[in-house]
Parts: sequence; C-alpha cells; structure tokens
Amino acid sequence: MKKSDIKSCPFCGGQVDVIIPGGRYFKFYQIRCDGCGANSKECNTPEDAAELWNKRIGEN
Ligand SMILES: [Zn+2]
Repeated sequence: MKKSDIKSCPFCGGQVDVIIPGGRYFKFYQIRCDGCGANSKECNTPEDAAELWNKRIGEN
C-alpha cells in the first residue's frame, strides 16, 4: 500500500500515518493524524484502515 493512497486529515489537513497499536499477539491497524490525533477505527489490515479513513472524509 502506498502512503499516498491515504488522504490527509479532514479536520486539520495534517499528515497521517498507519499505526499498529496492538500488542505482540494481537495486531491491528489504525490511521492516525500526526497533527490533531484523529484516528480511524481499528482494522485487520492497513488497506482496510486506509479505506475507512478515506471514506470518513466524505462524511459530514
Ligand atoms: Zn488532523
């Protein structure tokens, strides 16, 4: 997955990163904004997390 596939933050326009907040035995992925700390839901793959994040941007 290219990082450029993930849109910038809808709240502050900041850069976002894929983070893996799970522990050693339970991995999941989230997109998190470096600027304001907004994040996506927890997903099983970074692709899913990116898709959710990008969808959320279209919501009001
Ligand atoms: Zn932000």
